[in-house]
Amino acid sequence: RERAREILESVKGRDDTRLGVEAMGLLDAYGIETPQGEIVDSPADALDVAENIDGGVVMKIVSPDILHKSDIGGVKVGVEDGEVYDAYEDLITRARNYQPDANIIGVQVQEMVDLDSGVETIVGMNRDPQFGPLLMFGLGGIFVEVMEDTTFRVAPVSENEAFEMTEEIDSAPLLRGARGRDPVDIDEITETIQRLSQLVTDFPAILELDINPLVALPDGAQAVDVRLTVD
Ligand code: ADP
Ligand code: MG
Repeated sequence: RERAREILESVKGRDDTRLGVEAMGLLDAYGIETPQGEIVDSPADALDVAENIDGGVVMKIVSPDILHKSDIGGVKVGVEDGEVYDAYEDLITRARNYQPDANIIGVQVQEMVDLDSGVETIVGMNRDPQFGPLLMFGLGGIFVEVMEDTTFRVAPVSENEAFEMTEEIDSAPLLRGARGRDPVDIDEITETIQRLSQLVTDFPAILELDINPLVALPDGAQAVDVRLTVD
């Protein structure tokens, strides 16, 4: 909680109230698992980080002006060590082309998560003028807008309420192992919803927050991307 407070304090007074993956430490502080990774501001540092991560990495542009990174080609998946320099330069170029005066914090170099064995879900929060902090759970990734398969609860939620959310969505069977796939770790999703519930209850200054995707895996779940607005 102290660490989360420090992170939120450090962004106070910034003229931009929108935060992206630079705020992943908030999730970490509340025990929500995130892939190994770092934000760097040079190709050489990017390579350093990539070399310390097994296999390929994901590289993402980090900028408060670019909220939907993949829309501008700002997410590169499966980057090998030998491709890191080019990928870095290309991400910066794409960001500049999109918005010449974009505030670019750097590039995130992140461990790959095995999407094939997992399901992309979304866990979010929006403050409703009438109901207060509304937690949302649903199918994530590219499906979230298309399917609109989501469910809501007012925070704070009990363990049982969080669990119910995983049962309520139309795609619930997908989480429980459809078409010969391994079921994903429902306990971990339930836990993540509760941890997010606690985070937004402790910090009213968080106006909205989305973890999209939270990749639910057969064993565990990984918050791969986060975006939030603070007061
Ligand atoms: P944005 O939502 O801003 O476009 P994301 O970080 O959510 O950026 O990345 C977009 C998509 O790229 C994700 O929905 C996921 O499918 C894939 N992706 C992102 N990070 C990883 C990762 N670490 N491992 C595997 N796939 C990833
Ligand atoms: Mg995303």
